[in-house]
Amino acid sequence: MRTMVDQTADIGEILLTEDQIQTRVAELGAQISNDMAGRQLTLVSVLKGSLPFMADLMRAISLPLRIDLMEVSSYGGATTESSGLVRILKDLSSSIEGEDILIVEDIIDTGLTLNYLVRYLRGKKPASLRICTLLDKPARRLVEIDVDYTGFTIPDQFVVGYGLDYGELYRNLRFVGVLRPEVYTQE
Ligand code: 5GP
Repeated sequence: MRTMVDQTADIGEILLTEDQIQTRVAELGAQISNDMAGRQLTLVSVLKGSLPFMADLMRAISLPLRIDLMEVSSYGGATTESSGLVRILKDLSSSIEGEDILIVEDIIDTGLTLNYLVRYLRGKKPASLRICTLLDKPARRLVEIDVDYTGFTIPDQFVVGYGLDYGELYRNLRFVGVLRPEVYTQE
C-alpha cells in the first residue's frame, strides 16, 4: 500500500496565492479578448499541467472560442529535470488550418517542449499562433521563444500546484508552491 502524502506539508513556500492567480488570469483574459477582438479563437492546451489554467482562462476570455487538447511527454515520470525528448501522446482532435491559435501552457522552463509544439502546430497552417503561459522560468531557457502572454515570471525553483505535479501529485493545490527539495531527493 502507498504511504499517504501530506501535500501541503511538502510545500516549502507559497509562491503564488489563489487570489494572485485568479486576479492575473482575469487580466490575461481581458487582454487577450481585447487584442483578438472580432475574431474567433482556438485554445490549444497541453495536458495535464495546464488543465486548471485552461479552465479558468477560457472563462475569462469574452470571445467565441473552441478548445482542443494535446498531451506531450517531456519529463520522464517523477523527475524534476527536462529530458529534452518530446513525444506526442495525444494529438489535436480536429484541423486548425486557417484558425487563430492560442497555445495555453502551464510553465516554460528550458523551452524545449514548447519549441517542438510551436513547430508542429505551425506545420498545420493556422492563420496565426500565439502563446500564453501561466509561468515562465527564464533562468533555464535553452531555446528562444516569443511568448505573447505571461502570467508570472518565477525564479529557478521546482514548483507544484494549480495543475503542476511531482510524480502526478499536488495538481489539485489551489496555489503554486515550491516543493521541499527533501521530497525529491529522498527517493
Ligand atoms: P520545458 O520543455 O520548457 O523544459 O518544460 C516544460 C514542461 O516541464 C512543463 O510543461 C512542465 O510539465 C514541466 N516543468 C518545468 N518546470 C517545472 C516545474 O517547476 N514544476 C513542475 N511541476 N513541472 C515543471
